[in-house]
Amino acid sequence: MTHVFALPDRPVAAIEGTDQVFPVGRIFCIGRNYEAHAREMGKDPNREAPFFFTKWADALVPNGTTIPYPPETANYHFEAELVIAIGRAGTKVSVADALDLVFGYAVGLDMTRRDLQLEARDKGRPWDTGKNFACSAPMAAIRRVGDIGPMTAAPIRLTVNGAVKQDADIADLIWDCAETIAHVSRFERLLPGDLIFTGTPAGVGAVVPGDVVEVTIEGLETLRVKIGDRDPDFA
Ligand code: MN
Repeated sequence: MTHVFALPDRPVAAIEGTDQVFPVGRIFCIGRNYEAHAREMGKDPNREAPFFFTKWADALVPNGTTIPYPPETANYHFEAELVIAIGRAGTKVSVADALDLVFGYAVGLDMTRRDLQLEARDKGRPWDTGKNFACSAPMAAIRRVGDIGPMTAAPIRLTVNGAVKQDADIADLIWDCAETIAHVSRFERLLPGDLIFTGTPAGVGAVVPGDVVEVTIEGLETLRVKIGDRDPDFA
């Protein structure tokens, strides 16, 4: 069978300390998973079960990239997040067994067109235009779980041009990594190559072309991206 045209190769993520790469299948993103962030979004975190949305795997961009300022937004936000890389398949896994699926962890950014996301949210529409677009998922190299162990507590911090904007701890996750994996696996069979962005702490805000965003989670490779100009094709 011959394809009528070629699609780009499947996106891959770097793995710390090796030339091997992690092929990325799907990207799941948990919403409102830190209390203080849920409140800054105008929601009560105590009443909500976890929920997720998705991004194309193609939205992934490697560490060090200059990402274009996306079209159709005037409020382009950063969200610093811990990312779980899945290395083993699982369906309806228990919380006790969930971490067996983990390949490793990485630092990620859930870049968001906040104006479009909030408009969609308030009108009961899908979040796609706000969340799932080109270059909306920067991620640093994955660290294998054997090298870092389970991520239950670690400082997570984001700076823009050196100024601290988000400063929290993974221990503050409402639904921790095991609970998050168990939840997603009720709705989809998790597969090797899946990524789960676990949600962002309080302090989200806007960036503009020229800004440098840096995200650190203790024990993982620091993620650094620069915000570029708007893609001239959309001008
Ligand atoms: Mn997010």
